[in-house]
Amino acid sequence: MKAAVVNQNSDGKVEIKELEVRELKAGEALVDVECCGVCHTDLHVAKGDFGKVPGRVLGHEGIGRVSKVADDVTSLKVGDRVSVAWFFEGCGVCEYCITGKETYCRSVKNAGYSVDGAMAEQCIVTADYAVKVPDGLDSFQASSVTCAGVTTYKAVKVADVKAGQWIAIYGVGGLGNLAVQYAKKVFNAKVIAVDINDDKLQLAKEVGADLIYNSSKIDDVAKQIQEDVGGAHAAVVTAVSKVAFNQAVDSLRATGKVVAVGLPPETMDLAIVKTVLDGIEVIGSLVGTRQDLAEAFQFAAEGLVVPVVQKRKLADVNAIFEEMEAGKIQGRMVVDMKAK
Ligand code: NAD
Ligand code: ZN
Ligand code: ZN
Repeated sequence: MKAAVVNQNSDGKVEIKELEVRELKAGEALVDVECCGVCHTDLHVAKGDFGKVPGRVLGHEGIGRVSKVADDVTSLKVGDRVSVAWFFEGCGVCEYCITGKETYCRSVKNAGYSVDGAMAEQCIVTADYAVKVPDGLDSFQASSVTCAGVTTYKAVKVADVKAGQWIAIYGVGGLGNLAVQYAKKVFNAKVIAVDINDDKLQLAKEVGADLIYNSSKIDDVAKQIQEDVGGAHAAVVTAVSKVAFNQAVDSLRATGKVVAVGLPPETMDLAIVKTVLDGIEVIGSLVGTRQDLAEAFQFAAEGLVVPVVQKRKLADVNAIFEEMEAGKIQGRMVVDMKAK
């Protein structure tokens, strides 16, 4: 089978390789992959931003059909449509796993990083952890929900924004576009979109943003948000830039919350005085649990959230990375495994 594999130097490129699929072990299922979205995290992994993983098959926005199950598997059967997400498997017994925080399990496995992922014609999953895709949801749209959707749905949950309150989304690319949609359509918040590209902001407006700001064209976007709406109640930062994290803190009203989602390999500044005097909270949020993913799928299946996707072929992955870095992608590029 063909797969997109991190190259030997981990220099931000993949090689398309022919690989053998190993035999299934207990608890596993084989998935014939239909499609897999390209997340900015794949680019971080390919560059070795979280440690080098040469030879790893990328991909954690995979959707496919189960074609084989190990003898002991009861949670999946042949023909089921399932997802392959970043949260690939937890230990199931630690304090995180048993308290609804399974993505923070200390012995977690992540698809396309610590285990082989779904940017391949076939992928082996741990059956009990592969969340099923509801009928009626298009596979390419489901792909985008598998990471971008669930991550932002969860981040808005963590932001704890109430109906009618203002939430600022910094970075409205693959993740941010869906953050706008979940915040607006599911949580009924008022949404501010901030980006440095006008085309991303235009798309954010089309999917429901109430206000849009191009922070590269405004002197001080945080000050502007303070002036225009009295500060945001919460912010979700998906931008791959520390500047945006700092702006997010400054655009909050007192007792506001910043949810950090983007993964630039940098540190953010945090003024102690503002943090204390304004009761600011800063919290990280990592993808979502299996239950979060099931919920995020359901809202997409009901048509409340509609991922913006474009089909590409496996051989395009390096080109997609270049477009991603140049900020040229609208919504999500999804590899169609059947496209030649
Ligand atoms: P993307 O490239 O599609 O989108 C990034 C967006 O940020 C683009 O629209 C870009 O124009 C915008 N941007 C860049 N600099 C900015 C700035 N200074 N201010 C405002 N906007 C700016 O990437 P993506 O796939 O949406 O991923 C975003 C980040 O989230 C990546 O670092 C990725 O690894 C991370 N991520 C985190 C999680 C998690 O669980 N926390 C899950 C998935 C992805
Ligand atoms: Zn991702
Ligand atoms: Zn655990």
